[in-house]
Amino acid sequence: MTYDLLLKGGRIVDPAQELDCIAHLGISGGRIAGISPDIGAGQARRTLDVTGLLVLPGLIDLHVHCYQHVLSSGLQPDSVGVHAGVTSVVDQGSVGVYTFQGFRKFIVEPASTAVYCFLSATCMGAPTQIFRTPALLGPELIDVEATVQLIQAHRDIIRGVKVFGETGSFSRWGGEVVALGKRIAAMAGVPLYVHTGSLLPVREPFALSPEDVLPKLLPMLGPGDILAHPFSFAPGGMTTPDGRVLPAVLDAMEQGVRVDVGHGLHFSFEVARKVLDQGLIPFTIGSDQHGDLDIPGMSTRSDTSLTLAMSKLLTLGLAFPQVLAMATVKPATARGLADRAGGLKPGMPADISVIALQEGRWTYRDCVGGTLEGRQRLVPVMAIRGGRVYPVNSAFLPSLEALQEGE
Ligand SMILES: [Zn+2]
Repeated sequence: MTYDLLLKGGRIVDPAQELDCIAHLGISGGRIAGISPDIGAGQARRTLDVTGLLVLPGLIDLHVHCYQHVLSSGLQPDSVGVHAGVTSVVDQGSVGVYTFQGFRKFIVEPASTAVYCFLSATCMGAPTQIFRTPALLGPELIDVEATVQLIQAHRDIIRGVKVFGETGSFSRWGGEVVALGKRIAAMAGVPLYVHTGSLLPVREPFALSPEDVLPKLLPMLGPGDILAHPFSFAPGGMTTPDGRVLPAVLDAMEQGVRVDVGHGLHFSFEVARKVLDQGLIPFTIGSDQHGDLDIPGMSTRSDTSLTLAMSKLLTLGLAFPQVLAMATVKPATARGLADRAGGLKPGMPADISVIALQEGRWTYRDCVGGTLEGRQRLVPVMAIRGGRVYPVNSAFLPSLEALQEGE
């Protein structure tokens, strides 16, 4: 057989198949055609030597914001996708039923990255201005019937529903927004993704304690639904102020509710250590990358990439195959596409991330001034999507030179 492209000599790791070997990977017609130590270079039209590099199923980022030019939080999808070593991204809640058509035409269709979304339960999506105009996230802006119809008509892109389950929302509307979001998700047969941790300003008087928000919310969720931000320093999330995981969260996980890291603006190493020690292991690692959000000090140039979030979780002590699964087969499962993404089985689309596992001394930073010293760092080198090769050159990633100098 003649392959279109041969990746030669890399370390091929696929958690979905429990595969970890040095071999060659052949691609034909945009699909994975074979993995073997015995493929000769003469059997391929093009060969790339990836000796010393990891050859992984294309990384999937379950949480980005990429409605560029419509939301100030919206990043260009390929800058958090193929040009950052990630073959597929999921926008979490930027898009609503009133704004979806532009997302499809101007974001999804032109992108080289596979772009999906979890649709906001609210019609306008979740624009940046929610901080100043919380009504944009209120129940009056939810149209259950129209949203279900849109999801049914665009299942190729819409894979779930997003809501905010946090103190500001509960102080205004109780659990109504989450309940309506869940109704949409259930009627459309997709999972619900729930932001946790205070975000909107709380309207006083607020009778509920922040720690009572999740116990009120969790009974509405079911297997396959997703809670975000377990390592958040914000009150009203999955932990008490002293870092204990709420028992209701662990119970929900027993019932099949999943947890996504949602790295972004909420990450605290101190909370992460305590949460991991109590046995809460997230299902997926969404990066929650977004633009400036109009927040002073929040730079659109800072590295909040998926590979950085993965490197932090490695440093926090999670096993290497576990971290890889959290950015490949598990997010593919979470959005219901495990049959066509997140693995390297022959016949699957040739979506591949080539990554360097660099040894050195790295100082990782969280969102509250905490630091973590690490010895390993995942650095993206290239992405292959449907057999096409894309260089890693996103402005959001530090250069290899900067990394080697210990940025
Ligand atoms: Zn987000």
